[in-house]
Amino acid sequence: MTAIDTRPHDISDILEREPKLLIDGELVDSHSGETLDVLDPATGQKVATAASADATDVDRAVRAAHRAFDLRAPWRRMSALDRGRAIIRLARLVEQHADELAEIEVVDGGWLRQAARDVEIDLTVRHLDYFGGWPTKIEGNTIPVSIPDVMVRTEREPVGVVAQIVPWNYPLLMAIWKVAPALAAGCTIVLKPAENTPLIAMRLGELALEAGIPPGVLNILPGLGSVAGEALVEHPLVDKVAFTGSTAVGTHIAAKCAPMVKRVTLEMGGKSPNIIFGDAPLESAVAGAASAIFFNAGQACSAGSRLYVESGIFDDVVAGLADTADRMVVGPGSDPRSQVGPLISGRQLDRVRSYIDDTVERGGRAVAGGSGTPDGVDPSGYFVRPTVLVDVDETMPAVREEIFGPVVVVQPFDTLEDIARRANDSDYGLAAGIWTRDIGRANTLAGMLRAGSVYINTYGLTDAAAPFGGFRRSGYGRDMGHQNLESYLETRTVWTALDGEG
Ligand code: NAD
Repeated sequence: MTAIDTRPHDISDILEREPKLLIDGELVDSHSGETLDVLDPATGQKVATAASADATDVDRAVRAAHRAFDLRAPWRRMSALDRGRAIIRLARLVEQHADELAEIEVVDGGWLRQAARDVEIDLTVRHLDYFGGWPTKIEGNTIPVSIPDVMVRTEREPVGVVAQIVPWNYPLLMAIWKVAPALAAGCTIVLKPAENTPLIAMRLGELALEAGIPPGVLNILPGLGSVAGEALVEHPLVDKVAFTGSTAVGTHIAAKCAPMVKRVTLEMGGKSPNIIFGDAPLESAVAGAASAIFFNAGQACSAGSRLYVESGIFDDVVAGLADTADRMVVGPGSDPRSQVGPLISGRQLDRVRSYIDDTVERGGRAVAGGSGTPDGVDPSGYFVRPTVLVDVDETMPAVREEIFGPVVVVQPFDTLEDIARRANDSDYGLAAGIWTRDIGRANTLAGMLRAGSVYINTYGLTDAAAPFGGFRRSGYGRDMGHQNLESYLETRTVWTALDGEG
């Protein structure tokens, strides 16, 4: 395949920039001068250089956020209405810069250009619009306590300085899932993007300034998790850590925060079951199962990576899914024909391939895809074919562990009780899918599944108004919806003696 590249937006000025951090409204050099190479996942070539923050930079950024949180600072003096307006202005700016931002996602994150526009950027805009409406609705209560002659009311307060640490799979959206509610609550932020995808977060920080969000409110620190991430979590002036990423790193962060009694929310990994009953509309169930695992090359926390099919239609579903996988065009996100883009890095590519090889060595079978390089792609890029594995069992690593690639394991099941038990037999509990025409059965099963989001006859939808997050080791706390806003707020209870004498 010869790649067609019809770049709609020239981002060479962004790629050629000096590596900087965004602290207190200024683009500044990092303390150490260390940098990160930004690689295009479709070619493995270096396309830009980003700054890499160390503990000194973290201290500077956290102190800037702390100053911006002062009661006399512009952000805290801004009315709720104006805070909301600033967030909504940021939504409009993201919309205006959609082509540029989508292009950064293609080059830096390996996204398909159209998907970046239609999914990532679109959801980002909706998210900002939704949370831009919240500041004026954050209210306290008056409480009818049993003690006479006192008035008791609650006030809602922003939690303070928030460290937000996000992964690379949806570089802009994962940041905005955290930034938008924190801004709505009135917090100040130090955001650390993943080391693989630093560019878009820097642009987000610049657009926030343009939207009128005061300097110091949103600071952006590209850097290594082991350096900048650790320093952020440890910093005594950070009041809350909001993390999205792997369960291993999230667990480590939670343990570090515990002795400091820092608030933590964790959005972590998944190994989500997608369940097709024999009466499901076959065509849409197969298409749904394919997009549940192959969208964004399987690099989605909620990917439907464990597919369970009722025995009577098992062969038909496997054949349909294998056919869909075989037909998918693997290629760079800059080529409009591509349907499956590259993985983020060589490390991820090796990891995904090793799960495929290991499964085959243990007696599994790839009925589509496999660990070899797909035809027609740049062999230096990080491409893997959409892969369908059968003849697997619950003991295999590919069935139990998050692969984070376009790899699905398919197994048959027979009864509702059987599938409920097997679907829940996982350390994770992020999402689940159910495909059937029997809506009563679907809802009965939904109530039995230990998963934060259950999709019936659809898969993977998200909306800023609908909470999203995990049961069990997929994390705690929720992104999106008013539950998310709550996690950025404290409650102050104010008691007033009504006789005025005390
Ligand atoms: P990761 O855990 O390796 O990294 C996530 C972030 O944590 C990065 O910014 C990284 O630099 C930082 N980090 C790494 N070590 C750190 C440390 N010791 N201290 C502080 N920060 C540290 O995850 P990843 O590989 O970037 O992303 C993929 C993972 O994210 C998958 O497990 C996926 O399921 C998960 N994810 C979850 C959700 C959700 O909403 N539940 C959404 C997207 C991705």
